[in-house]
Amino acid sequence: MKAITIDFGGTNIKIALFHDGVITKKENIPAYSENGLAPRLYDTEKTLRNMLAGEDLHNYSGIGIAMPGIVDPINKKVLALYGKYEDSKQMDLSTWCHNTFDLPMVMEMDSKLALLGELNYGCAKGYQDAAMLIFGTGIGTAVSIGGKLLSSRNYVAGALSSHIIINMNGRKCTCPNTGCLEASACGWALEGLIREHPDFNNSGLAAEEQLTFKTLSKWCDRNDRTALDVLQHCVISWRAGILNMIHAYDPAIVILSGGIMNFKGMYDMLTEGLQEQVWDCIGTVDIKQAMEPEDSVLYGLYHLVAETYNN
Ligand SMILES: [Zn+2]
Repeated sequence: MKAITIDFGGTNIKIALFHDGVITKKENIPAYSENGLAPRLYDTEKTLRNMLAGEDLHNYSGIGIAMPGIVDPINKKVLALYGKYEDSKQMDLSTWCHNTFDLPMVMEMDSKLALLGELNYGCAKGYQDAAMLIFGTGIGTAVSIGGKLLSSRNYVAGALSSHIIINMNGRKCTCPNTGCLEASACGWALEGLIREHPDFNNSGLAAEEQLTFKTLSKWCDRNDRTALDVLQHCVISWRAGILNMIHAYDPAIVILSGGIMNFKGMYDMLTEGLQEQVWDCIGTVDIKQAMEPEDSVLYGLYHLVAETYNN
């Protein structure tokens, strides 16, 4: 079975061709997602045509599209996203796929697809009840129960767990609330966290041009007090997020993914002693790192196309 997969990410658009569960070709193009989706469709089509290089499109079963927001997969509509591809809410991508490639399309939210990818091709094979957290610029979450993605009337269930409030006196979020997990610790919140530290002016971080997790890691290695305090704050926040997901959704496995997991020692910092904070009746919860952190969304898309159109 062959499938075309397109992951419209905030920074990059990842495009891959699949054959029987294996990526045969993959390209990345810049997203410029703040300018909307419509201006990127031409380059997406051009890149795909080059990748297909004269292959007969009718050998492909369908196209899978991932969006960085809440998606209605039944009506193939983007329902909510912030600051990225805002115009996609008004677009009919199903018709674009049909008119451009004469192929049917499936669409889903990126974090849910990452979980599908890990469940079917990655670290969570054989698990049914799973929760996933993807730590990056923001924090993506997804949940599956009984082997199926958790779904609800607005397709929000399990997908907005980064907006569970963990600090009533916390920082302002990009959503209407304060003290959400994401507002407390993630890529976009990091610069504010560092600058607000009372010892910031005496920190090596004050001379850095960009305040990212990479620079934070560098100054943690040098035992910089501000850096170590901010790291500890982030780790405590993320552990609270993992515990919230365990107590809310009762998963047998929690999958951790995203750029933060490259931070030296992060897996151990997030998991050591965590089991002792879980209610007894839940028992042991496996916590694993994503096997395909770069491509799990694409694998999830392939799975969805195969499940929907391979008959
Ligand atoms: Zn929020």
